[in-house]
Amino acid sequence: MHLFKYRGDELFAEDVPVEKLAEEYGTPLYIYSYNTLLRHFRAYTDAFNDYPHIICFAIKSNANSAILRLFAKNGGGADIASGGELYIALRAGIPPEKIVYAGVGKTEEEIRFALRSRILMFNVESADELREINRVAGIMNIKAPVALRINPDIDPETHPYIATGLRKHKFGIPIEDALEHYRVASRLKNINVVGIHKHIGSQITKVSPFVDALKRVLILMDKLSIQGVNIKYLDVGGGLGISYRDEEPPLPKDLAKSLIPLLKGRRLTLIIEPGRSIAGNAGILVTKTLYLKRGEDREFIIVDAGMNDLIRPSFYGAYHHLLPVIRKKRDTVLCDVVGPICESGDFLARERELKRVKHGEHLAVMGAGAYGFSMSSNYNSRPRPAEVLVKGREHFLIRERETYSDLVRNDRIPGFLR
Ligand SMILES: *Cc1c(COP(=O)(O)O)cnc(C)c1O
Repeated sequence: MHLFKYRGDELFAEDVPVEKLAEEYGTPLYIYSYNTLLRHFRAYTDAFNDYPHIICFAIKSNANSAILRLFAKNGGGADIASGGELYIALRAGIPPEKIVYAGVGKTEEEIRFALRSRILMFNVESADELREINRVAGIMNIKAPVALRINPDIDPETHPYIATGLRKHKFGIPIEDALEHYRVASRLKNINVVGIHKHIGSQITKVSPFVDALKRVLILMDKLSIQGVNIKYLDVGGGLGISYRDEEPPLPKDLAKSLIPLLKGRRLTLIIEPGRSIAGNAGILVTKTLYLKRGEDREFIIVDAGMNDLIRPSFYGAYHHLLPVIRKKRDTVLCDVVGPICESGDFLARERELKRVKHGEHLAVMGAGAYGFSMSSNYNSRPRPAEVLVKGREHFLIRERETYSDLVRNDRIPGFLR
């Protein structure tokens, strides 16, 4: 459930007309709904209320400081995948004891930063990484809290690029090898084994892959406990899907209902790492129609948002609803909605039946709150969009639109060229 709805023929973000925001802040523009974000976050805390848990928002889905602060204020933690994400999380006020750190390529510098910050745990993805964390912790004369990320070999039945829990993927440690890795980990002097982690993919629209993966992990945990390895934190990852088109994904409460009974009698703290299911439908991208052009078998609607602003359609072939910001009575045309970038892959929608739009009119790209701005780039030297947070009748700029000078801020011209 989100709060981007029509009132009459005008699209609103909570109680503010989207048209007004587009005029005030310019386009392309990311708009987030505070009450949607909060509602989605609370859907998790309410669902898992009966079991000790931490909701660690996956920062890679949306790294805006104001949004992270919102979660921090409501007891949220963070799932991070880089030193940069750690920096942003801490600065937004997320307590280090609620931060978990995954990712296959942690550098020494990043490991030091995380150890210094006293994060809850590293979700370790390989034996090599484990040794490196042990070594760095040794130099710092501390013990690194560690979970091993287990690859349970479960097919989440999602887009191949966002499945992560199959044997063929780079993520985690194959479940068959996990016992051996835990044995090694528990012998390392500067490693403190505290948890177990899995994350099988993203945009998962059924509960069964989560249940199957958890069952496999629990069998492993029982074997570990026989070996005297005591797990405190069970991190089940994120990955719950959202409705982009007509999907009907389970809700956090459905997930809780299936998972919590499996944990009966175990004294654990559950960690959940949702990203998309909290932020995805809490944000839209507003774009302006620049030109119309008749193609051979379809029309092109050329808009001012490109693949650098929202890469999901180009990258994953992802579907996003496109809605007119002001609804008009018009006939329907078959069209491609494309951006200004010099790539044929630069589109927001392909072969879409849309009501005709005219020059200067705004379109809203729905479901753009996760993996939208966070995956944006400056390709074609385009300053990245502004971000606005709407709360009831109020609206706040939470990230300024980049300027041309931002584009060259870090460039240096060597002396011999001056
Ligand atoms: C990306 C990621 C998440 C979040 O996934 P969503 O599908 O956005 O919920 C959680 N945990 C890890 C380790 C991830 O890589």
